[in-house]
Amino acid sequence: MSAPVRATTGVFSTFMWLRPDAVLTESGVERGLAVCVQAGRIIEVALAALVPDGEPVRRLPGRLLIPGFVNAHSHAFQREFRAETEFRQVDQDDNFWTWRDRMYRSAQKLDPDGVHRAALRVFSEMLAAGFTTVGEFHYLHHRPAGQSYAAIEEMSQAVIDAAANVRIRMVLLEVLYCTGGIGQALRPEQRRFASSDFDRYRALVDAVQRSARSSPLVTVGLAPHSVRAVPRDLLREIGLLGAERNLPVHMHLSEQISEVDDCVAAYGQSPVATAAAAGLLSDRFTAVHATHLRDGDAELLAEAGARVCACPSTEANLGDGFLPARELRAAGVDLCIGSDSHALIDPFAELRMIEYRERLRSRSRNVLVGETPDRAGRLRLGAELLAMGTAHGAAALGLDTGAIRAGALADLVAIDVEDPALQGVSSEFLQEALALCGSPRCVKEVWVGGVQVHGPR
Ligand SMILES: [Zn+2]
Repeated sequence: MSAPVRATTGVFSTFMWLRPDAVLTESGVERGLAVCVQAGRIIEVALAALVPDGEPVRRLPGRLLIPGFVNAHSHAFQREFRAETEFRQVDQDDNFWTWRDRMYRSAQKLDPDGVHRAALRVFSEMLAAGFTTVGEFHYLHHRPAGQSYAAIEEMSQAVIDAAANVRIRMVLLEVLYCTGGIGQALRPEQRRFASSDFDRYRALVDAVQRSARSSPLVTVGLAPHSVRAVPRDLLREIGLLGAERNLPVHMHLSEQISEVDDCVAAYGQSPVATAAAAGLLSDRFTAVHATHLRDGDAELLAEAGARVCACPSTEANLGDGFLPARELRAAGVDLCIGSDSHALIDPFAELRMIEYRERLRSRSRNVLVGETPDRAGRLRLGAELLAMGTAHGAAALGLDTGAIRAGALADLVAIDVEDPALQGVSSEFLQEALALCGSPRCVKEVWVGGVQVHGPR
């Protein structure tokens, strides 16, 4: 295998003030502010008039500075087969499972270099779209027949190197994958995903944690793939490992009706209840999809402080079903977003799809307005949706990003408020306009850890 160029670029920013027209802080859109960045973090948000003379200021006229979006659920390698899995003419009864078969076949072709190239492409596209962090749910681990590469973490390292190369912040969610279905052997094309036992999985986690120590933008989390792929006793093991190391834990849950039916038939309870009974739910836990919840599931997630990662463009693309966003929010479950299989990479579209699906379901408007009024006493749809794209995703990944405040990581996006989609919108409604009308076209400059990674300098 020829080694690709995998040099790590710079480390963290030097001291600098960013001076846009407006800043989206935790209080809303505010004018006349400047944001001071040093050593990768925001160290101060101050009135621009108070910036001391002589200090370095980057002026950003016509820009609204917002926290970078957090893509909490990604399978980078799946972007590589968009043509084969999306656009090719298929049978009339195409569905999630036939898509999965095609995706498995395509995945057989990838080696570590191919995964690295795929991740470079998809992470670059994410940055240009305004995502500054990705939760990479990584399960392509071994050679096609299931044997390890020379190093157990070789595939993971290819993804870590890609994140470092393009300078996107990443939580590598290492996947545990054991069975082809509940109580079923792996299919041949699933063998390269699998860990032979929990000790091998723990060794993989140890290896990527060691590697991440030398990649300042990379941290590690745990990811039992699903109830289909992980037996109950190992769900308990992974919960214990996550608690011991204080790591985020992400898991596909209740994405498909047949997955829920199989789980109820095998265990007498839903996938969410199964995860809860295994001690897996906590405030470090994120359920990915949760499209087919049973009664009581939302309450179980809420009681644990767990979150749900919605992947609306993928769920629509695969025909998964509707996320019950209104019910989850009513139960007190925070939502975040992911672009999952990458049929589309657009945080704005993901956010408005969550709201618009609720409108279509309920035949009403402004469904996800939240319960906390802003300073003017109004419930705000835009703030609620943008929090899903930023702060809630950061919390799901255990990161101190997703907000513009002193101490947070300096992951920032400059929005062109003169873009035709936003032109003429007052500060009061810019959050709504961004969530409902925004697009990657509005993203002009992007910083990760205070270092500019996209746009004119
Ligand atoms: Zn997924």
